[in-house]
Amino acid sequence: MFTKRRGLLLVLSGPAGVGKGTVCAALRAQTTEIEYSVSATTRAPREGEVDGVNYFFKSREAFERMISAGELLEWAEYVGNYYGTPRSYVEQTLDSGQDIILEIEVQGARKVRAAFPEGVFIFLAPPSLQELRNRIVNRGTETEDVINERMNVAEDELELMSMYDYVVENDEVDRAVSRIQAIVTAEHCRRERL
Ligand code: 5GP
Repeated sequence: MFTKRRGLLLVLSGPAGVGKGTVCAALRAQTTEIEYSVSATTRAPREGEVDGVNYFFKSREAFERMISAGELLEWAEYVGNYYGTPRSYVEQTLDSGQDIILEIEVQGARKVRAAFPEGVFIFLAPPSLQELRNRIVNRGTETEDVINERMNVAEDELELMSMYDYVVENDEVDRAVSRIQAIVTAEHCRRERL
């Protein structure tokens, strides 16, 4: 009855520390139907992070070469480091009819919005700013200065919520994941209209 379509480009964004990584990991654990885009970054690996799994860890020079070669779908500078989405994997995945999710900060999401207006943009929101600070502090991987800088960025980021198709409150990981799955199902149904 239905022709095969391109996959859905899902963009999960929101302030750092809101739990995008945790929610994305939980979503991936619950479904094999959504591919995940591994980003490139110049930030140093955190303990336990693996090159090619969590990120492709790059020098600034190597990252800048990727920018010049047009290899990135979007990129942004965030708290002193570059972050970007390799283009080819995303394009191949969408062409094969498979859905893919990008977990990125809000400047990058804005650029993807311009390039892929048909994407599904989901803003993951913290229950409150105080809760956001608690989460970044409890993670224990950042210095006080970096925490303050991230909080300043987060306050600006919260103002950009209106460009998103959906806002999902991350009050609890499992509930946030269920809401995202419901969005994906609804978007598939919406696009099946003849
Ligand atoms: P972290 O250093 O905590 O892993 O990530 C910092 C911020 O960069 C997070 O908000 C994360 O979502 C975002 N980020 C990760 N990968 C990308 C990417 O490819 N592009 C953009 N624009 N942001 C990214």
